[in-house]
Amino acid sequence: METEGPVGPELTDEQKERILLLMQKMMGMGICAVYGREDEGIPDAGVDCASRLKTCRAVCCTLQFALTKAEVQKGRLRHNPSRPFFIGQAEDGYCLHLDRDAMRCAVWSDRPLRCRRYGCREDPHIPVPFEPA
Ligand code: SF4
Repeated sequence: METEGPVGPELTDEQKERILLLMQKMMGMGICAVYGREDEGIPDAGVDCASRLKTCRAVCCTLQFALTKAEVQKGRLRHNPSRPFFIGQAEDGYCLHLDRDAMRCAVWSDRPLRCRRYGCREDPHIPVPFEPA
């Protein structure tokens, strides 16, 4: 069943945490899957990744997020089989689509909407870009 938005009463943080844990258990058992939902109105962030890579080392490609239904159906992107449909990640936490030698996205033209729209410039957890002298 798909819903367009929140239904029912507002949940407490504790209730949300319990539901999250339950869903993670169900995903691990193969009886639950999650699709990402992206707002169509949000533009691409337009980040110049090449100029930031020396400093950030593609840390954004370690973030966890769920693929949209359309992205899963397209079949180009790999998801985590024990946590469907979150982006597939290697043991070290990096996305399976990251080319480790070049530290570049190997599916750039088909990368997920979440990757396109993520603005690392506004995220205080991401280091300031390296500026050569
Ligand atoms: S799909 Fe590409 S841009 Fe997105 S997390 Fe994976 S490697 Fe990074």
